[in-house]
Amino acid sequence: MAAPVGDDVFGDDPSVCALQRKAAAMLGKEAALFVPSGTMANQICIRAHTEPGDEIIVEAGCHIYLYEGGGYAALSGVSIRPVPAELGLLTAEQVRGAIRPPGGLSHFPPSRLVCVENTANRGGGTIYPLERLSEIGAVAREHGMRYHLDGARLFNAAVGSGVDVARIAAPFDSVSICLSKGLGCPVGSLVVGSRVFIDRAHRFRKMLGGGMRQAGIIASAGVYALEHHVDRLAEDHRRAHAFAVAVAGVAGIEVDLAGVQTNMVYADVSGTGQDAHLLAATLAEHDVYVVAVSPTHIRAVFHLDVDDSGLESAVAAFASCA
Ligand SMILES: *Cc1c(COP(=O)(O)O)cnc(C)c1O
Repeated sequence: MAAPVGDDVFGDDPSVCALQRKAAAMLGKEAALFVPSGTMANQICIRAHTEPGDEIIVEAGCHIYLYEGGGYAALSGVSIRPVPAELGLLTAEQVRGAIRPPGGLSHFPPSRLVCVENTANRGGGTIYPLERLSEIGAVAREHGMRYHLDGARLFNAAVGSGVDVARIAAPFDSVSICLSKGLGCPVGSLVVGSRVFIDRAHRFRKMLGGGMRQAGIIASAGVYALEHHVDRLAEDHRRAHAFAVAVAGVAGIEVDLAGVQTNMVYADVSGTGQDAHLLAATLAEHDVYVVAVSPTHIRAVFHLDVDDSGLESAVAAFASCA
């Protein structure tokens, strides 16, 4: 609340500028732009990279395709090519196979942008191997396409794999990151990229109504999170793994441990004979809050408000309710 503020619509809020400089430096890019949400960050990037009628290639379970209200179609006028991939992680060959053939420009929508999500939420919070990211980037470049990283959980990927965020971000033309997920801020996301790209993104932020005035109040929380809440993500990962192993031992619950790589656990609860939504409601009565993502599956996420005793009570609640 004591943050120095200005007017970020005029570009002179010192706290917002400090956050943008810090994020750009950490990711090894020239510039960054503070935006209200991760959804807006992705939508700005899609709009800035494409023209109406272009096509974008994504993984079939990704946030951009499933959870952004169809924004790619409504706001950018692009068509989408969703490609299902094991653990939510695309391969370069899958991307190559989804690119529209050359020479058919009057028939086909031009493939313009590849988006990957790291970590991949619906894959289980899975991490892209570094080589895979550069292989996909090479395919994109070879076809004159742009390359976007939905890095809502980029820092989980970095901490989980022991690879610096700048190395993960290197092959991408644009990156979105969320401060409001595991990093623990109340609000805020960033678009990161080259100076030229961020200048263009700024115009689309304006168009979408994402310019905020004395935004230093929330941007300062972001600076704090980037300084204090990154390394501790390892604790969330440790607890998620311990939780996965423990609930996998509960009768009727199955967990694909290969997908448990960071801070989340997807559990198949169909063997309990209970609908996942009902089970989630029962767990909530025990102060354990999880999301039923389907009638058979529950997602549990570990974050900075869940400590070791929270982990123990969550395991106990699953054991008694399932
Ligand atoms: C949460 C999330 C977003 C969007 O974040 P909001 O701030 O909720 O709009 C984008 N991508 C992924 C992978 C996410 O998990």
